[in-house]
Amino acid sequence: SIAQTKQEIQQTVEQAYLEFKDVQEGKNADYIKELARVDPSIFGIVVVDVEGNTYSAGDNFSKVSIQSVSKAFVLSLVLEESGPIVIKEKVGANATGFPFNSIIAMEINRESGINSMVNAGAIATTSLVSGNTAEEKWEAIVNKLSDFAGRRLEVDEAVYISEAGDNQRNVAQAQLLKAYDKIYFDADQSVDIYTRQCALSVNARDLATMAATLASGGNNPITNKRVVSPDAVSYTLPVMATAGLYENSGKWLYQTGLPAKSGVGGALIAVVPGKFGIAVVAPPLDEAGNSVKGQLAINYIVEKLKLNPYLVE
Ligand code: GLU
Repeated sequence: SIAQTKQEIQQTVEQAYLEFKDVQEGKNADYIKELARVDPSIFGIVVVDVEGNTYSAGDNFSKVSIQSVSKAFVLSLVLEESGPIVIKEKVGANATGFPFNSIIAMEINRESGINSMVNAGAIATTSLVSGNTAEEKWEAIVNKLSDFAGRRLEVDEAVYISEAGDNQRNVAQAQLLKAYDKIYFDADQSVDIYTRQCALSVNARDLATMAATLASGGNNPITNKRVVSPDAVSYTLPVMATAGLYENSGKWLYQTGLPAKSGVGGALIAVVPGKFGIAVVAPPLDEAGNSVKGQLAINYIVEKLKLNPYLVE
């Protein structure tokens, strides 16, 4: 149950916005050229509770590409379709402790498996989505992510084209997966579907609704549509907790206790199970590729509203 009043929650979100809106640290991602062109001053915070109430401050509707935040939702789709054993055995669920695109992590974890929240594991996860063709798999992904958001999501074509021309590293990782028998569909096509899923265009409201759908066990609290089963959510959240903020996932968990996922487009979501989905959009990133203002704002809200599930009084 939600302990705070609606007014307290709204005030906290507004305070977080005011507290951090002038922070200048961080820098847009630029290894995907199109991301460098996004307005770095976009800053929006949205919280959606499991009853569908929305609290917000700042740019609710400015869009960024979802990037790695998509990984959490594609994982939940595969968990829904195939169950937890498939992910454990075919992808893995260990924290990598390495950057999102690390090849060393793949080598070190060759036997023990990687993680669906970093690129190699995410491409393998995408390859596991149902469908006999790339088009069928893509449809399954865009349909499911749209259900999470409660509206039809669309690809930002400029971002897709930009990344597709610059993603040699992901192509290489998919080929390595193939060499190790750890990819379950055509390697190049799996990367292409993954690149498209990362280019889906979202705003802070979409992201908060998606996170709130996880918080409420797979039921979208705005549309009231069941998107995935509670079981799929229960296995998605721990994977987010282990690697959702790349090599800084441990530090994040230490501070907040919450499963979360960042993306290099500047999105950050956190899930408070049974209570809230929290989303921030703010493109400038720290060195690990996590939104600077996103981390500050969510940390602030978590502390003020005492949302850390490990809190014992
Ligand atoms: N599409 C991006 C990539 O594969 C996602 C990275 C991220 O958001 O961490 O490099």
